[in-house]
Amino acid sequence: MVWFLIALAAVAGLFVYRVWSKRQRRAALLAAPLSAEEREIVFQQVPLLERLPQEFHSKLEGKINLFLDQVEFYGCDGLDLTEEMQLSIAAQACLIVVNSDQWYKHLRTILVYPGAFKSKQTYQDGFVVSEKETYRLGESWQHGPIVLSWPHSEQGALNDLDGHNLVFHEFAHQLDGLSGYTDGAPLLDRGHRFEEWAKVFSNRFKAHVEDVKHGHKTFLDPYGAEGPEEFFAVAMEVFFEKPQKLQREEPQVYEQLTKLLNLKPAEWPAD
Ligand SMILES: [Zn+2]
Repeated sequence: MVWFLIALAAVAGLFVYRVWSKRQRRAALLAAPLSAEEREIVFQQVPLLERLPQEFHSKLEGKINLFLDQVEFYGCDGLDLTEEMQLSIAAQACLIVVNSDQWYKHLRTILVYPGAFKSKQTYQDGFVVSEKETYRLGESWQHGPIVLSWPHSEQGALNDLDGHNLVFHEFAHQLDGLSGYTDGAPLLDRGHRFEEWAKVFSNRFKAHVEDVKHGHKTFLDPYGAEGPEEFFAVAMEVFFEKPQKLQREEPQVYEQLTKLLNLKPAEWPAD
């Protein structure tokens, strides 16, 4: 009995120690700055960071450290993965959550391709299940991985004013999936009422679907009409790349995203 209690105490002690050391490691990564060389790469690869208010810079660097520690990158189809690629993708992903408590806790793997990649999609029509191969630029799975075309990820970041950003799009799906479903209804902070989010996003999504169906010109990418999760992801792209215009065209969507991410990019200096 005594030996059993000693063994139990040892196991419990080991468990507590492991939790404690994991927390310590996380805190150290979040507090550490990037090296001068890494910082230079990040600013070259993601020029939008020039507009990010100074108060968020050290937070961003800490989150990039944590991200790079947590996630393993793999170059696919012969892609020679570089530090620039990893830092660019990490910086874009961390920018979204720079001032939020939300984190990509399920993500462990990012696959990077030298261009569009083949993806198998399963379709169900009644009892008939069929598979189709399509070419895609990006994919986000609820419990990881994320799959990205490098040239499109790079261009999305370098051109930060066109309202298209593949990495923001795929990481919006990743954030959305933290609630258990990738359905355009992400986890919200305390004090941010779900009814408020749901009302705005379902109304604006329906209006967007109608506009696209009738061939009207839309500010948000027509791809957003594919489903509420795509509407959320395309809104995320313009939230950072055309924030003033999003605030004018879709003020309620803009406001909900400011509450979700605790950021107000329309007030950041324009490029
Ligand atoms: Zn999507």
